Amino acid sequence: MKIVGITVWALDLPLVRPYTLSGGRLAFERLDSTIVRLETDAGLAGWGEGCPWGSTYLPAFARGIRAGVEELAPVVLGLDPRPTDAVYRAMDLALPGHPYVKSPIDMACWDLAAQSAGLPLCDLLGGRTGGSVRLHSSIPSGTPAELMREIDLARADGYTMHSAKVGADVDADIERMRFLDAQMSRDEVVTFDVNRAWLPAEAIAALNATSELQRVIEQPCEHLEQHLHVRRHVTQPLAIDESLQSLGDILRIVETGACEVVGLKIGRVGGLTVARRIRDVCIEAGIQMNIEDTGGTTLQATAAVHLAHATPEPFRRATWMCVEHLTNDPIEGGARNGGGWSVAPELPGLGAAPDVPALGDPVADYRHPG
Ligand code: MG
Repeated sequence: MKIVGITVWALDLPLVRPYTLSGGRLAFERLDSTIVRLETDAGLAGWGEGCPWGSTYLPAFARGIRAGVEELAPVVLGLDPRPTDAVYRAMDLALPGHPYVKSPIDMACWDLAAQSAGLPLCDLLGGRTGGSVRLHSSIPSGTPAELMREIDLARADGYTMHSAKVGADVDADIERMRFLDAQMSRDEVVTFDVNRAWLPAEAIAALNATSELQRVIEQPCEHLEQHLHVRRHVTQPLAIDESLQSLGDILRIVETGACEVVGLKIGRVGGLTVARRIRDVCIEAGIQMNIEDTGGTTLQATAAVHLAHATPEPFRRATWMCVEHLTNDPIEGGARNGGGWSVAPELPGLGAAPDVPALGDPVADYRHPG
């Protein structure tokens, strides 16, 4: 089997409500997502998506994906998509770095490999294990009352785990964390996600003032070095999200004992191929994972649920579905929110594919000359 066509669509995805994080310094009203279809000479089509959650959240931007796919297309056309490590190696040789660019192509290769094997994707990533995959909500920054209003909306959709975005003003954050902690019922979990907003001194002050709460604190500072300084002065369990961008990062996190939890976002680390390697390191190191993506439709959510469902339960903490924040989702099938939980589809491959007319006109189409 070989790849004979690559088609690219750009999707404008307005959010249901404006979203702010990192104490309000990063604000979003719509996302720009890239959908990629790989066609093969065997008549199968594989689908992938890349959506970096705007341009300010990560060193990634939507038009960069489209430019990167253009760069990679001559290398990927003609390859067999099923040996995914070999395809990834070819992409790395042709374009070192730029991991988020490779993720949608890699996802489509995994979709094709699983379709051609006649198995759901999770069965190629280690095999379906355990019960349903827990979902967590994502609660944008705001006043305590605004945060609670969003948590109540998430509760109505079945969520019992919440990622509340804090950061910015230390005194206000102390108030927010105490207030939200007190509002949680016994079966609820709240994580305080700072999204890099605090300086180390601010993190140490805020966390020592609230040490009785013992909730997971996510990505308190910009860099891993700052995080490690904070780590030595606080007692809360910590999570690293934005600072986990590569296999090298997870090795350093393990070596330094930096955290108990990581956010394993598939697009940020470069796709399912790299995410699977990082997942396996985390299992060996006893680190729990939020296995998810940086944004996008049900296509990306489904890929994340497949990887989560193939990860033993003690290590998979939760998965986030960006699609719940969108007004538009042109995907048929796939993993959905069933009362705060989800399952990987049983169909071969991803088990999700776009309604092609709903994507509009492609922005690029590359064909194998042979
Ligand atoms: Mg986070």
